[in-house]
Amino acid sequence: MEPLLPGTLWRPLAADNPEPAIVPRVLIIHTMVGYLLGTESMFRAGGYDGTESTFGVGGEWDGQYDGVAFQWQRLDRQADANYAANAYANSVETSDGGDPSRPWGARQLAALITLTATWCRITGNPPVLVGSPNGHGIGYHSQFANWNLSSHTCPGPVRIQQLLDIVIPGAAAIFSVPPPAPVVPVVAVSAPPLAPAFPLPAGHWYGPPSPDPRSHSGFYSATDRTGLNRWQAQMRARGWAITPDGRFGPQSDDVCRRFQNEKGLAVDGHVGPITWAAAWTAPVT
Ligand SMILES: [Zn+2]
Repeated sequence: MEPLLPGTLWRPLAADNPEPAIVPRVLIIHTMVGYLLGTESMFRAGGYDGTESTFGVGGEWDGQYDGVAFQWQRLDRQADANYAANAYANSVETSDGGDPSRPWGARQLAALITLTATWCRITGNPPVLVGSPNGHGIGYHSQFANWNLSSHTCPGPVRIQQLLDIVIPGAAAIFSVPPPAPVVPVVAVSAPPLAPAFPLPAGHWYGPPSPDPRSHSGFYSATDRTGLNRWQAQMRARGWAITPDGRFGPQSDDVCRRFQNEKGLAVDGHVGPITWAAAWTAPVT
């Protein structure tokens, strides 16, 4: 797990960090009853020995730090702000300018939503309110008695309602957006259609019954009927009124001539290699 959360400013409290390692499964939200920089000074005075929070988010009372998130402790080290939850929780202090009845402002809310969604992604926890101290997800300080020995209401009813109505749903919406699909390079544009090989020897054609040995009508040869049937079926697939029967009768003769005329081919009523191939490669018009 990355120890630093993307999108936050890393502001370590001391060079020496003796806090024990943890695997966070809950993100616990607090209110400061104070300002971002004042709270940071208080935490820094004790280094990592006293009380500290993993994160702090500035509000409207913090000037240039409105909507800015500080990270004071690594995700994989204990931060002492949540009593019994310290062993498994990361924590977020939120500025209120000294008055915990104030709601989070717009920029502070946006920063909290982003931080929560990113935390869920990095730590592998769901963007949902935890149902018990044993759960995984998002919580608030006064939610369970053993997170909050002094029984204060942190982060207060107004901010708890914002957490439930805005922050967790907002983080869940970001979290559920799938990453963009990888761009697949286009390898080939659609290939031109291919005609099957012309079945007859060079110089031969399909045509009406004739004593000419180069003309194949299908009336005398099963092999010829197979080839002719294929052409007739293709012409029917193109929309021509023709019943494939493997025999070159008046219907085939008529369709052949009209097709040759339409495609600008020599109109001889013979299905030779050019007329055959055009049945597959010429656009249907
Ligand atoms: Zn608290």
